[in-house]
Amino acid sequence: MEICKTIKSLQAALSVYRSRNAFIGFVPTMGALHKGHLSLVEESLSANDITVVSIYVNPSQFNDKNDFRNYPRNLQLDCKLLKKTGCNLVFAPDDNEMYPSDDTRKFDFGQMGSVMEGNFRPGHFNGVTQIVTKMFDAVKPHRAYFGRKDFQQLAIIRKLANNYHYTIEIIGCPIVREHDGLAMSSRNALLAPEYRKAAPLIYQTLIEAKDMIFHSNVLKITTFVEKTINSNPFLKLEYFQIVDTYTLTPVEELRPENPATACIAVYAGKVRLIDNIEFIS
Ligand code: AMP
Repeated sequence: MEICKTIKSLQAALSVYRSRNAFIGFVPTMGALHKGHLSLVEESLSANDITVVSIYVNPSQFNDKNDFRNYPRNLQLDCKLLKKTGCNLVFAPDDNEMYPSDDTRKFDFGQMGSVMEGNFRPGHFNGVTQIVTKMFDAVKPHRAYFGRKDFQQLAIIRKLANNYHYTIEIIGCPIVREHDGLAMSSRNALLAPEYRKAAPLIYQTLIEAKDMIFHSNVLKITTFVEKTINSNPFLKLEYFQIVDTYTLTPVEELRPENPATACIAVYAGKVRLIDNIEFIS
């Protein structure tokens, strides 16, 4: 497994594979890898000739400096885990490599980018898009893999690929969870024991909310989620929103023919956790 720190060395390594017409799968990450990330890598390994994983904590997508500073980083361990999977190339650049000068590009995804994460993390998706386009341009993969854990991000990347005519196939992968249901996240490592113990309530509440869809309405379900999460002293709800699965338009009335997904963001102390569940497929 080769570890490249620069775009130049990455492209030199890739050109060898490209000359053999290899199909290239790409998994962008911010490192501190867990089984969720590794499931994306496995997907890519099984469908492509070679797999490239990027590890880069992208400053431009953090709207909170402390969150960026505290984000877990462990390149050595990440590389050890990736080597075991059979990953071919790791791209682990530094800030100078990815942002040699200010990136002033602005991307507008309309309301898809302004609801939920877009509303509570202003500039987040602009930063995500800046780095994903840079990564796509550097790696030029045939397929790129993203987790459904970041449901809104996946929708935005699909729109980006479509709007900007990327020929990359965007693959969405299922959410990998801990045994108690908590969605795996690099941020889970930052949870103090009492918060970690409380955090599975997030997914439990989503499951209970889903059970309500046939005998309740959006308002009642939303109130139930608010009350349940906020009644736990270690959790604070930031938002719960049921949206159209494809357009991300907030849903006011649940209809069996309209695919809907419920998304949630919760603070467990200072750690922000997100999750989602498909309500209507
Ligand atoms: P991150 O390192 O948090 O930027 O995540 C890199 C990729 O891994 C993104 O496409 C995430 O959606 C995906 N991912 C993170 N956590 C999970 C999980 N628990 N299950 C599936 N995919 C995940």
